[in-house]
Amino acid sequence: MTQNHEIKFGGWRIGFGLRRSNRRTLAITVRPDLSVLVTAPRKTAVEIVLAKVRKRAVWIRRQQRFFSEFLPQTPPRRYLSGETHRYLGRQYRLKVVEVDATEVKMRGRFIWVHTPRKADTARVRRLVQSWYLTHAKERLARSFAESTARLGARLANPPRMQLRRMPKRWGSWTRRGGVWLNPELVTAPASCIDYVVTHELCHAVHGHHGKKFYDLLRRMMPDWEMRKARLERVANG
Ligand SMILES: [Zn+2]
Repeated sequence: MTQNHEIKFGGWRIGFGLRRSNRRTLAITVRPDLSVLVTAPRKTAVEIVLAKVRKRAVWIRRQQRFFSEFLPQTPPRRYLSGETHRYLGRQYRLKVVEVDATEVKMRGRFIWVHTPRKADTARVRRLVQSWYLTHAKERLARSFAESTARLGARLANPPRMQLRRMPKRWGSWTRRGGVWLNPELVTAPASCIDYVVTHELCHAVHGHHGKKFYDLLRRMMPDWEMRKARLERVANG
């Protein structure tokens, strides 16, 4: 059973769920959905729990920021010639050409869209999106296979990858043993793609963002923080 509590810290309110357990020490976990779970020994008084949470408030806020910064922010697209689109971290310009054919291809720094009706931007959007989806499937699957191989025997049951459009996440690990990846991730540099994939796969070994999780992530990818920072710059630029 989880009880809900709240502390005030600076100008913030930090809400958290409190779960009692047989463990001897108190543990605080911040989940990717920004919720906070505190597991405490049965005999620890609520006032002591509140005091401990207050003491860790800065850390909790930092963890929450970590997850909220993970959220992709895509500018609205109009699918007109000249518009900039990103692929694997590089910028490409859209060139919409009216011809008696339907095709999308990448040439040089351009994404060429051939379509019988240039003015039909809804159709141009569908064409470009389906091109992205095809390439996302291929590119993310490759990163996923490589990271899975590197984790090797640590993965008792290697998870399966699924592409999912998530408005607020690059990736997500599901407890049913799958990894969801946002196809938008293919707009990010390859090093950032590998970071998100590795991060999610490490959850198949350690579900929460505890010390064991970060130890494993660091072992698999010593420069993960740099990659993460780069991903944030890309997502917000
Ligand atoms: Zn995570």
